Amino acid sequence: MKDAAHDIRHAADLLRRGRLVAFPTETVYGLGADAFNEGAVRAVYEVKGRPPVNPLIVHASGPEMARRVVAEWTDRADALARAFWPGPLTIVLPRRTGRNGLPPIVTAGGPNVAVRCPDHPVALALLFEFGGPLVGPSANPSGTVSPTTPEHVRAGFPGPEVFVLDGGACRGGIESTVLSLAGDAPRILRPGLVGAAEIERVLGERVETAAVPGAAGHGGAMESPGLLARHYAPRTPAHLFDAADWPRVLDDDRGSRAAVLTLGPRDVPAPHVAIPMPRRAEDYAAALYARLREADALGAARVLIERPPTDSALWEAIGDRLRRATAER
Ligand code: AMP
Ligand code: MG
Repeated sequence: MKDAAHDIRHAADLLRRGRLVAFPTETVYGLGADAFNEGAVRAVYEVKGRPPVNPLIVHASGPEMARRVVAEWTDRADALARAFWPGPLTIVLPRRTGRNGLPPIVTAGGPNVAVRCPDHPVALALLFEFGGPLVGPSANPSGTVSPTTPEHVRAGFPGPEVFVLDGGACRGGIESTVLSLAGDAPRILRPGLVGAAEIERVLGERVETAAVPGAAGHGGAMESPGLLARHYAPRTPAHLFDAADWPRVLDDDRGSRAAVLTLGPRDVPAPHVAIPMPRRAEDYAAALYARLREADALGAARVLIERPPTDSALWEAIGDRLRRATAER
C-alpha cells in the first residue's frame, strides 16, 4: 500500500509546478490545477477538450480561502458556507479582479466565479497542503460521463499528464448544486445534492430556479454550462421511459440489445440486459454514472432508463441529469 500522506505531498508539489492532479470529492472526481496559474488552468481546458466558454468551479478549504477568489464574501455566502460547507453547494459570486485577481480564464472571461469546499478528506488534505484554491472541473474528457472512481479518471486520461489521487468511489455521485448569489435574488443554476428548500431555510428568503434548458424563451446567454441541454451523457443513445411502457419499449427493440436501467431488480427478456438501480435516491445518485459507464461498455444499441420518482429534491436533481443524458444529440 502506498503512503497517503506522501501522495498528498507529491500532488501538492506537482500543483505548485503547474501540473494537473485529479482528486476525489464527495460528488465526483475533480481535475485540479492551481487557480492562480493561468498556464495550468489552460492545460485543464486542453486536457479535457473543454469548450473555452465553460467556466470552472474553484475548490477552497473553507470561506477563508474562498475569499481570495471573490470580489466580496457576502453575508449570504457566509451563512450558506456555515450551513453546507464542506459540502456539495457551489456558490457563484463576482470574481476578484485587480492585482491579486483570479486569471479570467478560470471564469471563461465571465464576471463571476463559482466556488465550493469539498467534503472529502483527500480533497481537503490536498487543499491544505497546497495552501491555495484549485480549479476542479469533473476529471473527464468534456462531453463524457462524470467520473466517480479513480478507474474512471484513468480511463479518460490514461497518459502521464494527470496524476490521480486515489480516494476510492465517490459517495455523492452527482455534481454539486450551483447557486448564484451574483444577482438580486439567489438562483439555482444547476440542481444537485443540496435542495432549494434547505437553502431557503438557511437564507430565510425565496430561491429562484434557472429556466429549464431548451424551454421556450431560453435562448439567451448561458448562465451556467451545466445547463446545456445535452450533458452528462453516455456514448450509447439513451432514452427515459415510464415503467408502464417498458414491455412495449423492449418489444420495439427486438433484435437489437438494450441495456435497461431498472428501478430495483426486474426481469428483462434476452437479449436485453438489466442493470438494476437502487431505489433510494442517495444510492441511485451514487451509482448512476458508474452504471451508465457499464451500459456503454456492454456495447448495447440503446440504453433505456426507467424514469425514477420526482418526489424529493435529490430525485429532481437526478431527473435533471437523466434528462440531459437522454437529450437529443
Ligand atoms: P463541471 O463540468 O463538472 O466542471 O461543472 C462545472 C459547472 O460549474 C458548470 O457546468 C456550471 O454549472 C458551474 N459553473 C462554474 N463556473 C460558473 C460561473 N462562473 N457561473 C455559473 N456557473 C458556473
Ligand atoms: Mg463536467
